[in-house]
Amino acid sequence: MSDSPAAERRERILRAAVRERLLDPDHAVLAAFVDLDAVAASVEALHRAFPPSVQALHTFAAKANCLVPVLEELRTHGMGCEVASPGELAQALAAGFAPERIVFDSPAKTRSDLDQALALGVAVNVDNFQELSRVDEILASRSSTSRIGVRINPQVGSGDIAAMSTATATSKFGIPLEDAGSREQLLQAYRDRPWLTWVHAHVGSQGCPLNLITQGIAKAVAFADEVNADLGRRQVIGIDIGGGLPVNFDSDETAPAFDEYVAHLQADAPALFSGDYQVVTEFGRSLLAKNGFTAAYVEYTKTSGGRPIAITHAGAQVATRTVFMPEAWPLRITAHDPTGSPKSGEAVPQDIAGPCCFAGDLLAQARPLPQLEPGDIVALLDTGAYYSSTPFHYNSLPDPAVHGVRIAADESIQFVLVRPAETIQHVLARTGAA
Ligand SMILES: *Cc1c(COP(=O)(O)O)cnc(C)c1O
Repeated sequence: MSDSPAAERRERILRAAVRERLLDPDHAVLAAFVDLDAVAASVEALHRAFPPSVQALHTFAAKANCLVPVLEELRTHGMGCEVASPGELAQALAAGFAPERIVFDSPAKTRSDLDQALALGVAVNVDNFQELSRVDEILASRSSTSRIGVRINPQVGSGDIAAMSTATATSKFGIPLEDAGSREQLLQAYRDRPWLTWVHAHVGSQGCPLNLITQGIAKAVAFADEVNADLGRRQVIGIDIGGGLPVNFDSDETAPAFDEYVAHLQADAPALFSGDYQVVTEFGRSLLAKNGFTAAYVEYTKTSGGRPIAITHAGAQVATRTVFMPEAWPLRITAHDPTGSPKSGEAVPQDIAGPCCFAGDLLAQARPLPQLEPGDIVALLDTGAYYSSTPFHYNSLPDPAVHGVRIAADESIQFVLVRPAETIQHVLARTGAA
């Protein structure tokens, strides 16, 4: 039986999805769900966490869930949008975000990307000195209403997952503050450019402890103070503090919560709350991960080397990080009967495999779950960000449907299609078929 209100909610959604054939053993063997009520609650928790003395624009990092209806939903709850590619910028515009509520971060912006962003008035965080020269060239020929900042690398070190840590000494992101001569060159860049009015730092994503993130932000704030002291005026008016609040993938609890993060920030970077600076945030995973799950049918079961194995329709195509880096990205998996109800029975260690043709396509190894059988359903929890919204096209598997869900006041469950499932025709079209 369910052990938390969140689990009960998921089970109700799953049973309704089976009833409505959004999950079907023949025609819809894999689908993802985004709980839109829960997303609204997470956005509200973020907005509430910052004191009213701070003038903040909270943007959602589009890469965490780039589906346009999801972005639209976030916009209606008062979010802005952080984008890091021309595709994400187009998605943000399609979702109706006003350009001034969009922030463009990417370490590889082309001249035309910059041209477009500056023409639209989208905020730009410049990653390096070469990019800054390109912005100079563009602004020499016309003005822009864009807020422009520089991404600094506070070089505070790595969290638990190296690939997710963006503020190491040798990170590819931003301008390092502590390299010889770098800080002086950066100060000169601000002196030379009165339109350089923001400072940006994003310390890392999953795996970074809160105090590492907040120390990085504290260094960004201190650098902004240093620029303003050096110039004798308040040229830097805002700090973009990035995202990166980690998510706990081991229970239905939300820990750390946004207010805990803000408490750490208040301790480590009090100047951010002085009212002297506007603030932009760029959270992704912490707003969406726990508000979505992925469900897949078990197609076959077998035993190999004595180990029970369930072959499901969810693998590397929707859980890429979990399959390739299982230690860093473990997911909770729940077992359900063909109606979507929780399966009971003694837990037996089983491998939960995906459909891809490589041996490592496993969602979990020796995971204790009630013995799975063909026609059962497994749910991968906390997959609302960076999972089914950004699939991997291995084996030409089609992208699954993503459904938004709301539970109405009368307790009825309402699904809205967020992304249709790809058909084989779509797969052929994206693989060059005539
Ligand atoms: C990925 C990214 C984010 C969002 O990170 P989360 O861990 O999803 O909160 C924010 N800002 C930048 C620059 C990023 O690259």
